[in-house]
Amino acid sequence: MMRQILLVFVLAAGLGAGPLHGQTDPLRIVVTDMEGGAGTLIVTPDGESVLIDCGSHRSDARDAKRIADAARRLGVAKIDHLVITHFHRDHWGGLGQLAERIAIERFYDHGVRDRLPEDPQYPRYLAVYRRLSAGKRRTLRPGDSIPLRGHVRLRCVASDGEVLGGGSDECRRHPAAPPDPTDNARSIALVLELARFRAFFGGDITRNVEHALVCPVNRVGEVDLYQADHHGLQSSNHPLLLERLNPTVVVMHNGKRKGGGKATMTAFRRARALEAIFQLHKSLRYPAWNVPDRFIANVAPDASGTPIVVSVTARQDRFCVRLGFDGSPVSFRIRPGKQAPVAQAPVEQP
Ligand SMILES: [Zn+2]
Repeated sequence: MMRQILLVFVLAAGLGAGPLHGQTDPLRIVVTDMEGGAGTLIVTPDGESVLIDCGSHRSDARDAKRIADAARRLGVAKIDHLVITHFHRDHWGGLGQLAERIAIERFYDHGVRDRLPEDPQYPRYLAVYRRLSAGKRRTLRPGDSIPLRGHVRLRCVASDGEVLGGGSDECRRHPAAPPDPTDNARSIALVLELARFRAFFGGDITRNVEHALVCPVNRVGEVDLYQADHHGLQSSNHPLLLERLNPTVVVMHNGKRKGGGKATMTAFRRARALEAIFQLHKSLRYPAWNVPDRFIANVAPDASGTPIVVSVTARQDRFCVRLGFDGSPVSFRIRPGKQAPVAQAPVEQP
């Protein structure tokens, strides 16, 4: 009897199903709270883990602890694939502290340079990266995929300033944004697919790269889920990108004073299919532009650490968004008939 009760409890807990993985497990995505940095953990139905960025270095190892905790909550004992979208400290500074807590098997980046003009401390972080990733590192080019078992696809659509298909300046519909000389413009952008579910993770790409991805042709295609580019900052999140990607749900990994505001929130609403915007934090900087509290993971000014958790149902016809691992799920239909990418990269011959 006790065993039956336990079994029912485990099944009912769903998300907390822990280390067991089988064909019926949903795809899970945890957008951890890096307080204006980035760290998104994806666990596939096969139990494989992909981490996109790993937060900042902190004396209290806050970000590394939060990512390690998310991995534990999702029942994964190691990070199979770590993608560093670009070499800014809010995206890779926490690497050394994370590696002390959980094993990392493979590393992906947009190409390593010896120096980064905007960060004098870059060589110190690079030394950590080189040591940890030696022999396990790969540079992702647009069109490359991260090798995953099962039916999940994770494909690079932008890297090192280049977009899938090479981009073009044919489109004159929008004036170009000022050139972005920083590493943001070289960020890796990824498209995640499982059956009909599609999600976009653009790192910190800025407006010219965003524009090249969708104009003159939409090289990304429409998506169900859009993780806001660049934490929801206004130098990214081009209105045309939102119009063309047309997500049902936007998740903004903003900080209390980073991301959001009029231009960003207006751009999100260019998506005709949009049903909800979720924020990691209630913005203190743009109070008039916050979504209602029930869509914000950390509402109080001192609230911190609650992630946004997305899961694709086992039937793969809906996806759910929760605030925290145990929050009540808000369910969305995975739209059939989304527009496919217009210019696919050549398919690799087996
Ligand atoms: Zn960033």
